[in-house]
Amino acid sequence: MPFPTSTISRFLVLLALVWAGAVHPPAQAAQAEVRIGVLAYQGEQAAAEDWAPLAAALDRALPGRHFVLRYFGLQDLWHAVENEEVDFVITHGGQYVALESAFGASRIATLENPRFSSPGKALGSVVVVRAERQDLQQLADLAGQRLAAVAPEAFGGYLVALRELHDVGVELDDLGSVDFVGFPMQKVLQELLDGRADAATLRACLLEELAAQGSIDPTRFRVLAPQAQQGFPCQLSSRLYPDWPFVSLHHTDRALAKAVATALLAMAPLPGGVAWTVPADYQEVHALYRELQLGPYAYLRDTTLLARLKRFWWVFVGLFLILAAWVVHTVRVEYQVAARTKDLRKALAERDAAQARILAQQDEAEHLSRLSILGELSSTLAHELTQPLASIANFAHSMVRRLDSGRYTPELLAGASRDIASEAERAGGIVQRIRSFSKKRVAIRQDCVPGELVQEAVELFCSMLAPPPQVTLVDRLPRSTVVEGDPLQLQQVLLNLMKNAWDAMQALPPAQRRMDLEIGGDGGQCTIRVRDYGCGLDDAQMARLFESFFTTKPDGLGLGLSICKSIIEAHAGRLVAMRPDEGPGMCFTVTLPAHERTA
Ligand code: ADP
Repeated sequence: MPFPTSTISRFLVLLALVWAGAVHPPAQAAQAEVRIGVLAYQGEQAAAEDWAPLAAALDRALPGRHFVLRYFGLQDLWHAVENEEVDFVITHGGQYVALESAFGASRIATLENPRFSSPGKALGSVVVVRAERQDLQQLADLAGQRLAAVAPEAFGGYLVALRELHDVGVELDDLGSVDFVGFPMQKVLQELLDGRADAATLRACLLEELAAQGSIDPTRFRVLAPQAQQGFPCQLSSRLYPDWPFVSLHHTDRALAKAVATALLAMAPLPGGVAWTVPADYQEVHALYRELQLGPYAYLRDTTLLARLKRFWWVFVGLFLILAAWVVHTVRVEYQVAARTKDLRKALAERDAAQARILAQQDEAEHLSRLSILGELSSTLAHELTQPLASIANFAHSMVRRLDSGRYTPELLAGASRDIASEAERAGGIVQRIRSFSKKRVAIRQDCVPGELVQEAVELFCSMLAPPPQVTLVDRLPRSTVVEGDPLQLQQVLLNLMKNAWDAMQALPPAQRRMDLEIGGDGGQCTIRVRDYGCGLDDAQMARLFESFFTTKPDGLGLGLSICKSIIEAHAGRLVAMRPDEGPGMCFTVTLPAHERTA
């Protein structure tokens, strides 16, 4: 913030200090020196005239202290504070706010000028144009025009007007140019009169002061956007700001600051009527800097990534933490999902393997069950097979005898050969059916005609028993109705039911061993009923009938019915057992879904 301070004046001040030390060394050396840095915006001499009475008054108020005034331009005052070369500062509100932000300076009093109604509303600016410039009526008209001002850092002489322009949408870049003419401030008016500027800005009241002195002809100027502020005695183009503060610094002794503040508030008005009062509110100055993005708020202009990073580091850190938390969460969830998927796959694989084992065991059990049926019936199977074989042998011997005796005719030989072939086919059929029934195989599904299924099962069953039981088969179902299933498995069920019925009738004389098979149902389902006239079962046995390993037979496995039930249920059907309404024995009913054969 360059505020020209002449080297000569500084030299003179130094000289004065050296002189003061030389002339009064013993008296002053005993007194503690308190240094007050004063902004001398109109030069040291003018400032000394204004402020020397203050130093004297403070000396009087605080005996034992010697107050020394030091005069600086804006920039030098800034450095003096930075280097702790002064203990107090008297400057305008603009610089005070900057010092407050940079070095923690604090105001302990504000100047009170009797000309203004409030110390908080004592400083403003005017923007003036030449009276004849009718084209310039409002602040907004200054876009593209040349503005004259004191200095870039001048508060009342520049920044205050800049804020007003900003408020009406005229930014610095929108101005044709800005010429800084330096102090004294009235030089801007000369720029205006000489035609080097279209408008000029200066501290409010200066215009009136100069007119009163006769330095200017006020009719040659016109104030733009004049504002009426109650209690303010001068023309104004801006809002008002607080008067100059008396500032204590970060390193200033607190007891001293307190003593000075007390002395200032108690002090009689200085020549000119100005006095010190309680500190005013400088928020309006903050607002100015913030709007213009200058001074303590200059960082707002810096939009580089680094600047944003410095400004909003907490946002970035927050975002980073959120991102990190999200990444950690995602990775954790992914990990858990992967782990659980692995577990699930393993469990599924184990379940599949267990299911496969169960299916294999079921197949094995079914196979064993079929073999068991065959095993139990095979004792009579051999006998059954001997019949066709004996017939074949008889036919063959009879042919040989006739050939030997010459009593044969071609018709006779052909007839005997046909009988032999028929018996051989019968025996072969029995063997074939048993072989296919006992084969290990994978379950299939196909449309089966219930009547045919039952008929084949009955034939196989009867072919293995001697003497065969009396089996009556009544088929009430049309041949067009079919069930979808594995024919071999369904036949296995029927064989099991017939074998159990046959077992249950062992106590009966062979002539009374009979069973009734009945096929019925409607279009949607098919029922196959197997009824015997055997020993039957009591209630306790009935309750456990379908349990695995429940058997009443000495050599029984107790698996047949439970396998039958699982086969029928795998065909979406039901297997139930009940006592017949009339007579002895048991009645087993298989119910299966059925449908009409298509094509
Ligand atoms: P197993 O024939 O090896 O005993 P099953 O599961 O086929 O095994 O039969 C279990 C039991 O059910 C038989 O032991 C028998 O006591 C009883 N049972 C089955 N069918 C009949 C039936 N038609 N009449 C009387 N009891 C029967």
